[in-house]
Amino acid sequence: MSSFDPLNVNVRCAHFIGGLYRDAAAMLDVQRPSDAQSYAGLPIADAACVDEVVENAWRAFKTSDWASRPPRERARVMRRWADLIEADVATLAPLESVGSTRPISETIAWDIPSVAEGIRFFAEFADKVGGEVAATATDHLGMQISEPYGVIAAIAPWNFPLSMACWKIAPALAAGNAVVFKPSEMTPFSCLRLAELAIVAGLPAGIFNVVQGNGRVTGMALCKHPKISKVTFTGSTATGAAIMTACAESGPKPVTLELGGKSPQLVFADVPDLARTARSIAKAITGNAGQVCVSGSRLIVQRAVLEPLIDEIQKAFALLKPGRTWDENTTLAPIISAAQANRIDTIVTRSRTAGAEVLTGGKLFDTLQGGAFYEPTLLLGVDADNPAVLEEIFGPVLTVQVFDDEEQGLALADHPTYGLAAGVHTADLGRAMRAVRKLEVGTVWVNRYGRSADWIIPTGGYKRSGIGKDLGRAAFESNLRFKSVLIDITDY
Ligand code: NAD
Repeated sequence: MSSFDPLNVNVRCAHFIGGLYRDAAAMLDVQRPSDAQSYAGLPIADAACVDEVVENAWRAFKTSDWASRPPRERARVMRRWADLIEADVATLAPLESVGSTRPISETIAWDIPSVAEGIRFFAEFADKVGGEVAATATDHLGMQISEPYGVIAAIAPWNFPLSMACWKIAPALAAGNAVVFKPSEMTPFSCLRLAELAIVAGLPAGIFNVVQGNGRVTGMALCKHPKISKVTFTGSTATGAAIMTACAESGPKPVTLELGGKSPQLVFADVPDLARTARSIAKAITGNAGQVCVSGSRLIVQRAVLEPLIDEIQKAFALLKPGRTWDENTTLAPIISAAQANRIDTIVTRSRTAGAEVLTGGKLFDTLQGGAFYEPTLLLGVDADNPAVLEEIFGPVLTVQVFDDEEQGLALADHPTYGLAAGVHTADLGRAMRAVRKLEVGTVWVNRYGRSADWIIPTGGYKRSGIGKDLGRAAFESNLRFKSVLIDITDY
């Protein structure tokens, strides 16, 4: 039994600074998405509090041996941390599920084990990336030495609270940095437990800190702090732009930005297994109720398979069971807030006004008290400038566009602003590779959709979907800076 009683989950209204919880007055009401009940309050760190946290992290970076100790020992601490996280699933999973959109069956089976694996993955880079010797003349020895930045600010969204934290924190720590992490104000609590377990694993106090608050006050103060050397951010494109501006004005300092998407799923008539493809398409728009940056939200299908594909997708939608995140039988997550659910509904309404036909869904479930649950939705008859095609909805809403030939399909797949990911479903390898080359996106999945459990494949956007990469070797290296050294070795 993995269902739990939300009233049995204790959360703490606190920051985590210098290895200790720092309780603080609640200033913001935090609600459970499943039933819209307030369950905790959140402090909002002002500029003075942010300054204290960053100074603390800076001191820990300078005075602890986290950056200078043998890298394998850094890796050992991180592996111990991963083991503790995995062993803590009975506490961590309900803590993650209670206030987020992540159903308990998924936090147990996927989120918590994946976070532990991610930490192990990045730990292994600690002693495997060093720098390089340059090709200089024989009287010189030139090299590049990799070094951590110092204190990195990491800012995360609410959709996968622990995973998003891990994507940022694990490579930064493995590279020897200190981190000040700001979770989303909507899902602020589970990362405190991560920080606590890091201390138990042996991470020096002050190397991983959590500061609570909203974006406008706390996030901005963090980005602008002079002792923050780099900002790594995941969230919306608009916020990413604001963060980049703040980093330019207060630095400039480097940024990694993982932003929004509006990813196409291109299905050709020769697709090998239509039913399997349909299940994959349905999952890619209903997983976490579509609140996923890489949701495959635009179906672009060749005319010959339109009807059978729609039919299979509708069957897959019908199997989903909306429910509270603490119910182990839930297979369709709640929407994060009533405001976000209304936003989804407003875009669907605008899409209908602009000519879309609702084949399935198109409204909130009315059976669950409190929480907001949106029906998996199919919108047919949308033009390329329909609002549901252009705007990131962040809900279980799939638009359907029809094409006749490859060129037309690829043209529809191209989005004017976003370029995060795309799916291509075809039995023709040549066609798949032509699509891979033509699609202006950061990731293409062929005959599948969504990330695998392999941490080695980087993720990141083209166009306005981002700058830089998370995951993979690239994510580790983006937490390092490189110092050039030239030594005269002439024999005088
Ligand atoms: P958001 O941009 O509203 O907030 C993200 C974080 O930024 C939060 O912690 C918030 O407090 C903070 N923030 C907001 N304004 C800020 C400011 N001015 N300065 C500093 N920090 C600020 O995003 P969200 O609604 O939490 O998340 C949904 C968005 O995240 C979607 O657009 C989704 O596509 C994107 N996302 C992208 C990826 C990816 O890998 N590309 C992954 C997950 C989510």
